[in-house]
Amino acid sequence: MNKNDAKNRIEKLRAAIDEYRYAYHVLDRTTISDAALDSLKHELYKLEQEFPDLITQDSPTQRVGGTPLDKFDKVTHARPMLSMEDVFTLPEFGEWLDRIKRLSSAESFFLMPKIDGLAVSIIYVDGLLSSAATRGDGKVGEDVTLNVRTIESVPLRLKETRSVEVRGEIYIATKDFKKLNDQQSANGEALFANPRNAAAGSVRQLDPKITASRHLSFVAWDLVTDLGQTTQAEEWEILRELGFKPTPDSVVVSTVEEVQSHWKSLQTKRDGLGFWVDGMVVRVNDNATFDGLGVVGKTPRGLVAWKFPAEEVTSVVKDIQWFVGRTGAITPVAVLEPTQLGGTTVQHASLHNFDEIERLDVRVGDTVVLYKAGDIIPKVKEVVVRLRFDGSKAAKPPTACPVCGSAVERKEGEVAIVCSNRQCSAQNQEAVLHAARAFAIDGIGPATIATLMDAGIIQLPPDLFRLIPDDFNGLEGFGEVSANKLVDEIRARKEILLAKFIVALGIRNVGEETARDLAKRFGTVDALMSATLADLVAVPQVGAIVAQSVVDYFAESHHREIVASYVANGIRIVSPVVVDTSNLPLAGKSFVLTGGLEAMSREEAKEKIRALGGDLSESVSKKTSFVIVGTDPGSKYAKAQALGIPILSETDFIAMLASL
Ligand SMILES: [Zn+2]
Repeated sequence: MNKNDAKNRIEKLRAAIDEYRYAYHVLDRTTISDAALDSLKHELYKLEQEFPDLITQDSPTQRVGGTPLDKFDKVTHARPMLSMEDVFTLPEFGEWLDRIKRLSSAESFFLMPKIDGLAVSIIYVDGLLSSAATRGDGKVGEDVTLNVRTIESVPLRLKETRSVEVRGEIYIATKDFKKLNDQQSANGEALFANPRNAAAGSVRQLDPKITASRHLSFVAWDLVTDLGQTTQAEEWEILRELGFKPTPDSVVVSTVEEVQSHWKSLQTKRDGLGFWVDGMVVRVNDNATFDGLGVVGKTPRGLVAWKFPAEEVTSVVKDIQWFVGRTGAITPVAVLEPTQLGGTTVQHASLHNFDEIERLDVRVGDTVVLYKAGDIIPKVKEVVVRLRFDGSKAAKPPTACPVCGSAVERKEGEVAIVCSNRQCSAQNQEAVLHAARAFAIDGIGPATIATLMDAGIIQLPPDLFRLIPDDFNGLEGFGEVSANKLVDEIRARKEILLAKFIVALGIRNVGEETARDLAKRFGTVDALMSATLADLVAVPQVGAIVAQSVVDYFAESHHREIVASYVANGIRIVSPVVVDTSNLPLAGKSFVLTGGLEAMSREEAKEKIRALGGDLSESVSKKTSFVIVGTDPGSKYAKAQALGIPILSETDFIAMLASL
């Protein structure tokens, strides 16, 4: 990015961030997720690092916290309460570490979880709590002494008669947060978006009785007064002796590997910690070295927060591209500036269909908030319209197939725009790839399929099973050994379960669970082919749309020929073993899974449910009995809440299995 572009971007970012911060800190209103706001701040911070002369005093990176509210008395901090630089990836952390090693002789590092709460400074005079203040803007905070006095983990009298300033975090434990929101909901009051908001809102109350009723907690993380401590680890000892609880799970390490492994282990156990943690703080352990490293702007150099993978992140849409799927549907995909989301690099986000583009009003050049739905596919949550550049144009739907150039069509009442050409090579290529995956042929990918199709060796999915090693003669990327290996693998996959075979056909709206239901009900592919709409609708879990898709699929002779061609090429379709499950404990119960599980894989969880007679479904409906919610759940979780379907955590689910 050149300097002029950077300047424009920086100005827009500052204005947007300021607006969000004002709403959040002054009006106590949340207009964007914390993660997305962090992401914008991080972008601004990085641009300012690249062009330091563009840093201005009023930049959001140059201040800390928020403006103190008028309703509280102001307190000027004797030493400003600084903020921390955030890093999100190992390479970013590595850059920080390299800088520290270059500028100092730091050898050991103090690690502690970054608890998501409200930072406060508490002053004791002769061992007695004298005053407490919020961070405010870093220099001036709000006097919240009376409220802080209500927090049980804050000592009113120290164990030693000392005059000290101690800083730390006021937070609300996860269980207390849940209770608080239940109560808010029972009283018909607004819910808190997260424990940080709840802690901040509870401390910044004019009536200390309200604060007292919220069951807040406090952990110390800084002893400002010099009591002879030479390292952060020693500070922890002194804080304990004074009667504080220092931040738990804190350790001293010396290598980058140790830092990384502690970060990982903290991330793994974060849900079980009982409080919200959004990352890990790494601080130079030796205080003299730490002080010697100094402060850049409002951030001490010797301290960094290594955040956990964000669930939401912002990025810029570089392009909107259209892809042709196996059903001929032309799907838009946003091409993004590469960014980190949920621990992986993301460069594309699905936009589903043109209606979705219109609903979100996503345009090329827009900054968007991304999130991960379910497990892997990033989606666009919203556009940060504030950051849109002047003269941007609304996206247009495609008028021709991007692959074969044929006209596109859109069926009445359907959202998908489809290529009208049944022989469109993109559709066939996708169909072959889809079938290869259903048959679990791992050795073949999109590139090989494209090569084989371009050479005219295969046209349709069943052709895979006619391949012989000689077909690969002269094809780029294939030798005798690799050709033999692939052909052997394909031959070994000729036997397939009916459910998987149905998946391989690629019928619209029929996913794995539905395919399993159909296989169980019809037993053979012939029975499925001759099923009427009424037969299909009669299958539990099969709705009208799925039923119509199945009928439409087999109504086309082209598709019946594909089935015949598989059989002619030696595919053996194995009928499911029918077991009477009506006496099993989960009979009649249907489950939906969303998010990742820890104690078992999703497949294992599904197997357990099926073994006990339960059914699985891909989408939440009123018929769903339970939704099992793991980590990073997708939209199914929200839908379950909206429909009031009982929700089970993984622990609840394991307990349920154990109780049967
Ligand atoms: Zn086409």
